[in-house]
Amino acid sequence: MKKLYFTPGPAELYPTVVTHFQNGLKNHIASLSHRSTEFRNMFKETTADLKQLLGIPDEYYIFFTGSGTEAIERTVQNCVGKYSCHFVNGAFSKRFFTSAMELGKKPKLVDAPLGKGFNLDSVTIPDTTELLCFTHNESSTGVMTPTSEIEKLAKKHKDMLLALDIVSSVPYVDLNYRLYDVVFFSVQKGFGLPAGMGVMIVSPRAIKKSQELVQKGISIGSYHGFPTLLDSAKKSQTPETPPVLHMYVLGRVIKDMLKIGIEKIRNDTEEKAKLLYDFLDTSSVFAAFVEKPQFRSRTVIVAHFAEEKGDVRKKLAEKGFIIGAGYESNKDTQIRIANFPTHSIQDVKKLITELKSV
Ligand SMILES: *Cc1c(COP(=O)(O)O)cnc(C)c1O
Repeated sequence: MKKLYFTPGPAELYPTVVTHFQNGLKNHIASLSHRSTEFRNMFKETTADLKQLLGIPDEYYIFFTGSGTEAIERTVQNCVGKYSCHFVNGAFSKRFFTSAMELGKKPKLVDAPLGKGFNLDSVTIPDTTELLCFTHNESSTGVMTPTSEIEKLAKKHKDMLLALDIVSSVPYVDLNYRLYDVVFFSVQKGFGLPAGMGVMIVSPRAIKKSQELVQKGISIGSYHGFPTLLDSAKKSQTPETPPVLHMYVLGRVIKDMLKIGIEKIRNDTEEKAKLLYDFLDTSSVFAAFVEKPQFRSRTVIVAHFAEEKGDVRKKLAEKGFIIGAGYESNKDTQIRIANFPTHSIQDVKKLITELKSV
């Protein structure tokens, strides 16, 4: 039976990914030295294409890491001497806060109940804050924080750096990058690659901060400190031996997306999200976990259902539709549905038909 993964990461692979891996292997990409001219050309092309796709300014740097979680740690290490401020409304934003604790910082926590958005107009941010940390799309609960709200807050605190986790909303999320200092994602969600690589988009201001921390004798880590990553990136290289084949395939997928056009990808995402929420809002079995439309994620849709309906995921899996479980304590009463570029409008319609028959 054909299976379709609507899980929020790893997810269904992007349709062209298998072919790109096959071609990459055939063409010995996996054996390329990461110091070779071919690799450096690939690095240059992929980072330039990514900048074009997402609208990232030229002066920003692109770094490669092992995962989104690593990017969280690197962000804190390189941008915080002592004080970060974290907006926590689920498991991934909590990870950001916990990383800061574990690294010996003094993070402040601003929280919102699960499934609800923040009221950013009423928060007070301590003046000592060095870095504001947001998770754009909280994949555990399906809450998306509007970027307009984040940017409004950031404009009130121009002296602070701003970090944004876009792991589960890239490439849908449309950012004014100049307002952000560190933005990061991993490749197994919106880009539809196998897991194993993260990407960081870093401002000159964040680089400067990491250099200041070094001067003050504060540890920023070792091989993935921003100054080391920058030295390598300037040579179109990475400090360590990177997953070259992954980088190749990411570059190819970005080219595929450039051909389709980011506008179309974003519009399709909106259309599919609307189909799913319209279904949830009229269903007698399911209901969207996030009530307020302005906080509803377009890319990870979370729904709860009556427990007596039994194992919804199992029923769907029997039809070939693999969807995500609710997060942690909501495992048996919620489902999570990914809406990434790999999922076609037809696929989403088919999924809704199956959900209707539960
Ligand atoms: C999946 C996810 C992460 C973690 O990314 P990994 O690549 O698994 O380390 C972080 N933040 C968000 C919002 C996520 O959805």
